[in-house]
Order: sequence, then C-alpha cells, then structure tokens
Amino acid sequence: MRDNITTQRISAVRNLLNEWRVEAVYITSETNRRWLSGFTGSNGQLLITKEHALLATDFRYWEQAQQQAPAYTLFKHQRTTEDTVQFFTETGATRIGIEANHLTLQAATDLKNNNALSHLTWVPLPQTVESLRAVKNSDEIAAIQAAAAITDHTMSQVNLLARPGISEKELAWELEKVMRDAGAEATAFTLIVASGPNSALPHHRPGKRLLQAGDTIVVDMGAQLDGYKSDLTRSFYLGSEPNEQFWAVYNKVLEAQTAVIQQTRPGMTCKEIDGIARNMINAAGHEEHFGHGLGHGLGLDIHETPFLSPRSDSTILSPNMITTIEPGIYLPGWGGIRIEDLTYCTEDGLALLSHCPKVPIIPVR
Ligand code: ZN
Ligand code: ZN
Repeated sequence: MRDNITTQRISAVRNLLNEWRVEAVYITSETNRRWLSGFTGSNGQLLITKEHALLATDFRYWEQAQQQAPAYTLFKHQRTTEDTVQFFTETGATRIGIEANHLTLQAATDLKNNNALSHLTWVPLPQTVESLRAVKNSDEIAAIQAAAAITDHTMSQVNLLARPGISEKELAWELEKVMRDAGAEATAFTLIVASGPNSALPHHRPGKRLLQAGDTIVVDMGAQLDGYKSDLTRSFYLGSEPNEQFWAVYNKVLEAQTAVIQQTRPGMTCKEIDGIARNMINAAGHEEHFGHGLGHGLGLDIHETPFLSPRSDSTILSPNMITTIEPGIYLPGWGGIRIEDLTYCTEDGLALLSHCPKVPIIPVR
C-alpha cells in the first residue's frame, strides 16, 4: 500500500520535470523527502530523474532506509566529497533542480564550487512537491484526524487545569503531559498559553506570568501522530463574569470564523476565503488588530500550502485540502482572542476535523 503511494508520488514528480525544465530534482526538505519516499531518518536526500530514484543517507540509516523506502535505490553516502560527486554523476542528469527554500547557501556554494561537478547546471526551484502535498489522501486525513482528536481531548482539560496562581509555563506543561498520555508522539509545536495582556501576542511563549481571575487566556496547541500534525486554538476567560469588551471581541471572532466555515466552497481563492473573515473584522473597527493570515494548510509541516491570506490570490482551495480557520483580534495592552479549528475541504464546502466545544468561561473554584 505504502509502496503504491510512493510509486505514484515519484511518477507525479517525473511528470513535473519538464515543467521545471530540469532532468533531475534534488530533494533536501525533510518533509518533502518523507512524503516522497516514506523514509523518516534525520539525514537523507533524494535525486529523482525519469529513470532513477536515489535515496542517499549515511550508515546509521541504511537498514531503515531499505525498509521504509523500497521504491528507491539506496545510495550509501558517508558525507565525503567523493560520495557527493558520485551521487550527482550516477544518473547522467546535468540540469538539476534544487529546493531553493531548503538547501542552505553553504551547501549550494559547495556544489557550485565543486570542480568535479562543474558540468552540472543547478536550477533553483521555489517549490517542488508542496502543491501536491496540499491535497491529502485518505490515510493522511485519517492521521490528521487522529492527531486532532488527541488535541480536542487535551483542550477539554484546560477548564480543569487553569486556575489563578498557576503559571503559563506550568499550564503548558500540564497540557503537554495530557497530550502525550493520550498518545501523541510529540507536540506539533511549542504549546502557546498566553494570559492577560500576553494574549495580545499571537505567538506568545508561555512564561512565568501567573494566571489570575479576570484574565483572557489563549491556548493554541497541536499533537503529532505518525509525523502528521494538528492545530487548535481556544480562548477563555478565567472567572464567571467577563466584561462587555470580552464578549464583543469574542463574539466578533466567533462570528467571523463561523461565516468562513459556512461560506467557503472549493474553487474559491484563498484570498477570497481570508476576506470573508477580514471584512467582518475590519467592519467592526479592528483592521489594525488582525495582523496574520486567516489560516494555513497543515500535514507533515505545521504550516504548509495552502495559505489563507490577503496575498494568496492565485491559490485555489480544492477538495481534500486541510486548512486551519483561525481569525483573531488582538488589542495591545488588553489581550486577544483567537479561535482556530481544523477543516478539510469536501466537494461542498468545509467539514470540521476538530470538535472541541467553544465554551470560553472557566469558573474560578
Ligand atoms: Zn494554532
Ligand atoms: Zn494555526
């Protein structure tokens, strides 16, 4: 099964070589490599031509690479210049696409300065398989759904664990434990617990601040399972009686998020989808307070194509893409609200992958 998928993905890349105007593509992105081969080791590069599919890795991974990536010819690469020269001359390809967003400047310089490879032309490609990865197959959707279920469960514990006197850091760690106990192999990213005025910072790192009654709290977290990520944000109020401003901001964000989930259809541009929420938030006088995109694709990477933002006018949402929908309003000095769910696109519109309820009040016991 896995083999089949890998073979299909290699063929898809071969079909793109002409469009990229190259004879081979050199894959150095860890997640593109994993998606294209199944190999999960920390060191590995692929070289794919019309006829060849090579996977280079070092001694530590030879056995693992053979097991995980049987569709590839294993190239034993001990990080020597001789191995590099042989790897790039083995297939006979002379125009080689490189992943411009992943290959380091040092590695690219070394390749260019290597006299034994001076007959090769290196073609920088801004993207390789990212747009293919945006459309998920049923196994990938299932993996993300399982990661989302763990995240839902973990988020449901916030109202039991958050209390005046616990620090953001402690709460984040408690939640991380819940997530790992529930089966996550790792967190998808460093959990965000932002309380009080810190909640105005969309990517605040949990710190020593102690939660207190009257705080707005933004919790953003994701689990990782089989390499696949999930992502979920809920915003809370610690105490029983939030003031009017909390409700005004909270309800505006929720309204914008609900509108996006109801109105999005495949075939819309990602800019249009972002606009549904952005127009509503701007109309409420918050154009300065929603400074990030509406959402992002997710899979082996926590942020991947498609990106829902005002700049994404050429990206079209299509069925089986998975995206977050996460509008937010951030008021410096006061705090912020963000509500994020995970969705996948069907033939008719967006279906939810996250099911955690939106109950913002955490009573102080
Ligand atoms: Zn998030
Ligand atoms: Zn997100």
